[in-house]
Amino acid sequence: MSLPEDFKPAVEIPDELSPESWAFAFRDQRLLVHTEDQGARLPSLRELEIAAGNGNPDLDPVRRQYLGTYLGRGVVSLEIDTDAEAPDGMAFCGLRGLFHRVDEPLFWIAARAVQIVAWDRDHHFCGRCATATETQPGEHSRKCPSCGLMCYPRLSPAVIVLVERGDEVLLGRSPHFVPGMYSTLAGFVEPGESLEQTVAREIEEEVGVKLTNVRYFGSQPWPFPNSLMLGFRAEWASGDIVIGDEIEDAGWFHVDNLPRIPPNISIARALIEAWISEHRGTRRV
Ligand SMILES: [Zn+2]
Repeated sequence: MSLPEDFKPAVEIPDELSPESWAFAFRDQRLLVHTEDQGARLPSLRELEIAAGNGNPDLDPVRRQYLGTYLGRGVVSLEIDTDAEAPDGMAFCGLRGLFHRVDEPLFWIAARAVQIVAWDRDHHFCGRCATATETQPGEHSRKCPSCGLMCYPRLSPAVIVLVERGDEVLLGRSPHFVPGMYSTLAGFVEPGESLEQTVAREIEEEVGVKLTNVRYFGSQPWPFPNSLMLGFRAEWASGDIVIGDEIEDAGWFHVDNLPRIPPNISIARALIEAWISEHRGTRRV
């Protein structure tokens, strides 16, 4: 559920970049792929250049960044003009919808690529003094030569919490969820907070419940658009559910009577499945 081990990050473009390098070409947040039945395949730089040369000059990248290597092939991210049309047999696809269509390691590299492209696109001018920024060697950063402001890819940490009470789990749903789906509660970390404080604040704001025994579960990049999800588990300590402004419903669900839960792309699913597996053996008939 993150970058594959075979991905070796790097920043400096090698002197000879192989035309067989992976090309992660984005038009806004949408990735250019070959569409094949249910699946999708990443193009190589060579294939992208051929498509651009075949009467499709809008496919010439506006900017490109080097991300490293995967399985020994270079990995390049590219920003494509917003007017570009996909060539025959290819399409610009939203990243989330590609999770089951491309090889999973490539999906997580795409999750990095889309954020690097967005960072490079959005920081060409200093946000403090409007001077044109310059790329820095050795890392993905841009620096203002006038005032020295550094611009890095933006990451927004968020906590996501599975709250349990015996054989019950606390799940809620946002208005934008698909019908019937419930998930663990989540919220962004605010400046000055520790993660533990965010966990306590979010759960109290959203459902009015106090927690105990908060412990870390694991993390997952969530590039929609810039999040890093930090998963926690906690136990109910006190309080009845009082639904706050951010969610439309929440409740305690018994392990034998769970609603529809999120798809397996998400750490929410992993949190819930880990909890289910612990309680499966203690289910009452
Ligand atoms: Zn500046």
